[in-house]
Amino acid sequence: MELFNLKDHSEKVSFSQAVVKGIGRDQGLFFPDHIEPLANIAELLDMPLAERSAKILRHLIGDEIPTLEAIVKDAFTFKAPIVKADENIYALELFHGPTLAFKDFGARFMARVLSAVKGDKDLTILTATSGDTGAAVAAAFYEQKGINVVVLYPKGKISELQEKLIATLGKNIKAVQVEGIFDQCQDMVKTAFDDAEFKERIGLNSANSINISRLLAQVSYYFEAVAQLPKEKREKVVFSVPCGNFGNITAGLIAKALGLKARFVISCNANDTVPRYLKSGNWEPHKTVATLSNAMDISRPNNWPRVEALVKMQGWKLSDFDFGSMSDEQTEKTMQTLYKKTGYIAEPHAAIAYQILADNLKEGETGIFLGTAHPAKFKSDVDRILNIDVPLPKALADKVSAESKSVVLKPDYETLKSYVLEALNK
Ligand SMILES: *Cc1c(COP(=O)(O)O)cnc(C)c1O
Repeated sequence: MELFNLKDHSEKVSFSQAVVKGIGRDQGLFFPDHIEPLANIAELLDMPLAERSAKILRHLIGDEIPTLEAIVKDAFTFKAPIVKADENIYALELFHGPTLAFKDFGARFMARVLSAVKGDKDLTILTATSGDTGAAVAAAFYEQKGINVVVLYPKGKISELQEKLIATLGKNIKAVQVEGIFDQCQDMVKTAFDDAEFKERIGLNSANSINISRLLAQVSYYFEAVAQLPKEKREKVVFSVPCGNFGNITAGLIAKALGLKARFVISCNANDTVPRYLKSGNWEPHKTVATLSNAMDISRPNNWPRVEALVKMQGWKLSDFDFGSMSDEQTEKTMQTLYKKTGYIAEPHAAIAYQILADNLKEGETGIFLGTAHPAKFKSDVDRILNIDVPLPKALADKVSAESKSVVLKPDYETLKSYVLEALNK
């Protein structure tokens, strides 16, 4: 697979190089300049998830990773079921993995690919989290040989469940509580990446959401969704994606470029830079506001250049997208109305995707909205809004009683550096 830096076309890398580098010169994203359609989609749709996904990823990536089939089988060990939520509308539930969010798909695939391509040198993933991403990364890299993970999070400022998911693992996963706020955690990480000597010494790597391996992994579940529909419903499918950094919808559009028949609805919360852009043609990010659907609280979505590149490459038009944005008040109302109507429990992100889909679905179409997180992950909000008591899945309930192993550090780079060198015996 050949990928180009979207900001500097002269920088060309293989898939393996893009996975290790993450981002290109000038903070440019890596992306292919051509996607070859799949020849045998009907046949692929009849296969089980892991087998089909391996074939799709092999088609996209090529021969670079000899163990790709084994990696996919080891990464995708949980289901992505579609569940009927309303008339002609299904939820694609992507939250049955270890940290109950769709990010498990991308993070688990990335961890295994990175481990396969990294060579003999040990790597250290250093990441700052305000909650979910750190949990998915920690779980994904747990016990991956030759890769250590250091997760920084602001002390007392993430949910107990999120902290448990990060801090109870141990072994190669080091949890660090910083006496400060998220921005200070992020600054410490940035300083580390600027420290060339330290970077080289510990094989510093980031595992963030712009890594191309994550997007490619996510292509798989769009096919899995359609595969579960009866054959007569596979022709007119509409996906509604709750968007934050627009990685998830980029994966859906790659599936479309591969030949999956579907159209896409862009669903946002009050952080509506893209919906306003699609309406007016002007790119005018506002200040990010906090909402109930906090994983979508992003006003400068970092994967948007990939969406534009793909639209251009395929000869599509931005005006082909339906889109919408919703306030917290509308989100709560949607959760209540849907629950009352059909009994389906949607957490805030999924509720937004459901409503904007319902508003744009045409006669004869089958709608699928992406359930990106388990309702139990947003338990306090979901319980309050729906007046219910969402049970925690068993795996998570066990976590809550496990003991956290984390260190507390001052928000200071030198302190972090000494801690990391000692913890990793470097
Ligand atoms: C990360 C996340 C999103 C947004 O996905 P993007 O790929 O960043 O657009 C939506 N919902 C949940 C629950 C998430 O964790």
